[in-house]
Amino acid sequence: MNRPVSPLLHDYKQSVSGRPKKSKALQWFAVGLGIPLVVVALLSTLNKTTPQESRSSAPVMMSAANEPPVIPLVDPAALLKQAEALIPEPIPVFDKLVLNITSGDTMEMLFRKNNLNLGHLMSIAELDEAKQRFRRIKPGDVFEVTHDGGEVISLYSELDLTSALKIEKQESGFAARIIDRPIEIRKRMAFGVIDTSLFESAATAGLSDKVIMNVAGIFAWDVDFVLDIRHGDNYYVQYEEVWQDGEYVSDGEIIAAEFNNNGRTIQAIRFVDDNERSEYFTPAGDSVRKAFIRAPVDFTRISSNFNPRRRHPILNRIRAHRGVDYAAPRGTPIKASGDGKVIFRGTKSGYGKTVILQHGGNITTLYAHMSSYLLKVGIGTRVRQGQTIGFVGKTGLATANHLHYEYRLNGVHRNPRTVDLPDARPIDERYREKFMATAEPILKELEQFKSTQTPSVAYLSQ
Ligand SMILES: [Zn+2]
Repeated sequence: MNRPVSPLLHDYKQSVSGRPKKSKALQWFAVGLGIPLVVVALLSTLNKTTPQESRSSAPVMMSAANEPPVIPLVDPAALLKQAEALIPEPIPVFDKLVLNITSGDTMEMLFRKNNLNLGHLMSIAELDEAKQRFRRIKPGDVFEVTHDGGEVISLYSELDLTSALKIEKQESGFAARIIDRPIEIRKRMAFGVIDTSLFESAATAGLSDKVIMNVAGIFAWDVDFVLDIRHGDNYYVQYEEVWQDGEYVSDGEIIAAEFNNNGRTIQAIRFVDDNERSEYFTPAGDSVRKAFIRAPVDFTRISSNFNPRRRHPILNRIRAHRGVDYAAPRGTPIKASGDGKVIFRGTKSGYGKTVILQHGGNITTLYAHMSSYLLKVGIGTRVRQGQTIGFVGKTGLATANHLHYEYRLNGVHRNPRTVDLPDARPIDERYREKFMATAEPILKELEQFKSTQTPSVAYLSQ
């Protein structure tokens, strides 16, 4: 597990509840150690009770005959028998095999290789649950087989993060069941100070790349992480970790974060609505994002800017370039820059394969030269911001793979790189109260955590 190690604040109690994975030797060792331990425990119990009993009766005995207190005799054989009776029957211990699936493996091959009973495999494969599992076997899958000299006792395989298949031998044959693998969400807090870069600060704070990328994604609308970052900028983040059976599995969602950039503070709190849609809002309930993504594709460079007087590279005459060209490899996903509805999808002369979206506020966006559309995107389809609508290509009048992107407000072309983008909608009124109730304790926790950190240290090191 590449779990980041850091001096983070843990606001949870560690609960260890792993499945016991004892070896045969260890189990027998435990039983061997168990007998003397029980004997010792019984003896010490007797020793403790005896003086107490004698003490309570001592005054009587002392005054009557002035004799030493009577200590009951202990029969060691009887004691040992008593101790043995307390030890449960030893649980039969079987061998355990871990089958790691690699490319080209089949269950049959692995059973043969490990001298496991092939007849048992056939019986198991007849069970519906096992049939389904074996059908989608792939490299990296793990099967745990408990066996007794090759006779299969049980078989266990994780299906996904929260369930597993368990097959057990019973008197009537093999039986399969799907068992739950409950996960536990733990909350963590971290504090990072930027010295040279965001990623370096994250590593120092013990944050994974995934967490810091998500933090950057939340604030990307307000902070240009390439140009706006200053030495001493800092951030607080509260996020989730997924744990299972007492083991760290992965980092989860960001619950809340604060970014202090060049003297200004931005806070974001996660809210999940009734449709399981999650979004980040400021403590006042405003969205932290804009209604539009500035560049709807991960581009390598801007190959042509918005320019009302540009000489067209193919037509070789002055023709206004009313969008921005983002160079990107063929097949790069093109994202809807904002929530909207598809109003055009088709070939549009020089534009090649094109999609036009209608958004609120009388804004339309256009995406041209696509190599292909996303199949389910047709006229009338509602799309969400960031959703893929097609792929970069060079259809129409284009010399190289790029996305030609246009932004129109009230029918007038605007420069997509500089146009003032509208804010995304604040928290829905019907959720406002719930959001405020959610945000309050989270912000309190954040403030509490902040009070334990010393951001000034970062500035002192300058
Ligand atoms: Zn263009």
